[in-house]
Amino acid sequence: MSFSIERVRADFPILNREVNGQPLVYLDSAASAQKPQAVIDAELNFYSHGYAAVHRGIHTLSAEATQLMENVRNQVSRFINARTPEEIVFVRGTTEGINLVANSWGRANIHAGDNIIISAMEHHANIVPWQMLCEQMGATLRVIPLNQDGTLQLDVFPTLIDERTKLLAITQVSNVLGTENPVREMIATAHQAGVKVLVDGAQAIMHHAIDVQAMECDFYLFSGHKIYGPTGIGVLYAREEILQNMPPWEGGGSMIASVSLTEGTTYAASPWRFEAGTPNTAGIIGLGAALRYIESLNLAEVSEYERSLMRYAQQALQAVPDLTIYGPEHRLGVIAFNLGKHHAYDVGSFLDNYGIAVRTGHHCAMPLMAFYKVPAMCRASFAIYNTEEEVDRLVAGLQRIHRLLG
Ligand code: PMP
Repeated sequence: MSFSIERVRADFPILNREVNGQPLVYLDSAASAQKPQAVIDAELNFYSHGYAAVHRGIHTLSAEATQLMENVRNQVSRFINARTPEEIVFVRGTTEGINLVANSWGRANIHAGDNIIISAMEHHANIVPWQMLCEQMGATLRVIPLNQDGTLQLDVFPTLIDERTKLLAITQVSNVLGTENPVREMIATAHQAGVKVLVDGAQAIMHHAIDVQAMECDFYLFSGHKIYGPTGIGVLYAREEILQNMPPWEGGGSMIASVSLTEGTTYAASPWRFEAGTPNTAGIIGLGAALRYIESLNLAEVSEYERSLMRYAQQALQAVPDLTIYGPEHRLGVIAFNLGKHHAYDVGSFLDNYGIAVRTGHHCAMPLMAFYKVPAMCRASFAIYNTEEEVDRLVAGLQRIHRLLG
């Protein structure tokens, strides 16, 4: 295997820093991943030598910036195997992308009496926009329930579909449990009934290759900051024939063909019709650098490294007394746990004292906390730069907290 963890770690400058007098152990990449120097340099270089507003200018810098931005659209399209770059809309992140679909496609296609299916493990970003849409349109939300091990009750899913079901909106990987949902099979079931499918890829995109054509989803979303790219930039993929027929959502500059005070406005073609205003060009360029960085590593090797690290972590955490781990045996990227009856915030604060960064709280998945009858969980999440030694530090930290707090 040519994947070298030492080389990868050297690419991430933040990993050299100390926190509370200890070398940083960063186990919060599912919330937001750290950035390699290549991404930092790409943004710095753009601001230093290439910055200008895109689209509107005839001048050289503006034309170059526009070209750079459209190159990244091509790159994203290849990265997820879209049919054409016109299927790629730049958004602020997964949250904005889901809201775009709800407000544009949703308002045009969801009517009173219709229903939308989600699951009980969704991030709030894939719950609240649908609740809002249902309220506005007089539609209802149906929820695929969970098994105790944090997998979906897949036998219940087809029974929720009826002739008024318009959309299945489902996460590919749970941000709390690491459950990998069988999205391909679920999409096939949904499509047989004429139901469109939106896949929230926020926790999947960084862990393995994504092929939206093979998956056959209608909408796919991810955020740049979780795939080692900048914050404030994300991607909505939508099948071309669907996107072309979606009405615009936000109005403003760049999304129009012509504007007249007497004749009204005509709109640009998709995807530009959905990109009103001055875009986050530096973020887009940084995202391009992040995708180049991942491709330079070989995603298949990265996946294998991460999966073996996860197996190691699951095994090693067995040595911590009174640890409750939530979710299925086979999980991707994250491990959620509680230590005895201690509140996750207390455990997280102790770990922070030892230089170990984990997430604590409801993880924007309050229905999932309600399902497990806990107010909060700790979550350790893993990325390409984490090591077995860091897992050992987490285990030692938790053992120490257990000794201190009982
Ligand atoms: N869906 C899932 C599964 C997530 O993990 C997240 C981020 N925690 C989101 C959606 C929202 O992503 P963002 O905050 O980047 O819009």
